Amino acid sequence: MSLDPVLVSEVGPRDGLQSVKAVMATHHKLAWLDALHAAGLREVEVGSFVPASLLPQMADVAEVVRYALRKPGWTVMALVPNRRGAEAALAAGVHKLTLPVSASEAHSLANVRKNREQMIEEVRAIAALRNERAPHVKVEAGISTAFGCTLQGEVPEDEVLRIAEAAAEAGADEVGLSDTTGMANPAQVKRLFARLRSALGGRAGAAHMHNTRGLGLANCLAAYEVGVRTFDSSQAGLGGCPYAPGASGNVVTEDLVFMFEAMGVPTGVDLPALFAARAALQAGLPGEPLYGMTPEAGLPPGFRHAEGRSVR
Ligand code: ZN
Repeated sequence: MSLDPVLVSEVGPRDGLQSVKAVMATHHKLAWLDALHAAGLREVEVGSFVPASLLPQMADVAEVVRYALRKPGWTVMALVPNRRGAEAALAAGVHKLTLPVSASEAHSLANVRKNREQMIEEVRAIAALRNERAPHVKVEAGISTAFGCTLQGEVPEDEVLRIAEAAAEAGADEVGLSDTTGMANPAQVKRLFARLRSALGGRAGAAHMHNTRGLGLANCLAAYEVGVRTFDSSQAGLGGCPYAPGASGNVVTEDLVFMFEAMGVPTGVDLPALFAARAALQAGLPGEPLYGMTPEAGLPPGFRHAEGRSVR
């Protein structure tokens, strides 16, 4: 029996690097992208278009985008917090824009200095800009703090749905849910994604889970079981959570791919090649801890990828 394939969206070069202090040199970023592409990843979030004065790590984002675009067969995505960032990202030629829209008012003000309604208007302006300048480009909204917020605590599910629907109405092609603070549990993930999918149908987007409390993979599996087919994750879980020393932030791509492939769910990613890409990451960030249990343990003897691909 073959199971529905999934798209693993690698967010390490943006979400991961953004929370790392050391700035990774451009040539190391490019070598890392080479390795990720060679491993079979088909979507990558390569950076964010924010002023370099605010985030020196992303000063080279346009160059990184242009490099990534030379590689065939993958979607090159960038985060844009506002219209100015979207203009620069479209000029660089990205395939997809992703916008952070908070479900929590407190997080919205802290993260983008706009309230939620203002951020929805930003989605509308960016979707209009896209329509005018590059109609083929996709616009994704990621609803952050969808499963809870460290600033405000519980985020009512009705509020999450209301913001997600508003983002879609404002022109987002896909709306995903993010467990920004690592507070989600599998029952909640099933409930919220089932509601999102019944509200938005095909425009319901990715699950962006964090492993702060060890539930990242369980939450991804719960989302898969209610029909989610795109998952954000970060190589080596890059971007450790500052609130939980020693715990990784993003779900580890290597562990996520192993889980799905072992279940018979095709990802298109080759695990040994993905493990090898860790060296390219480490070369650019010496001393940075790399997480992931599957690379540590190695693949089980006789392991085969979904679709019967044997390990090279
Ligand atoms: Zn994240």
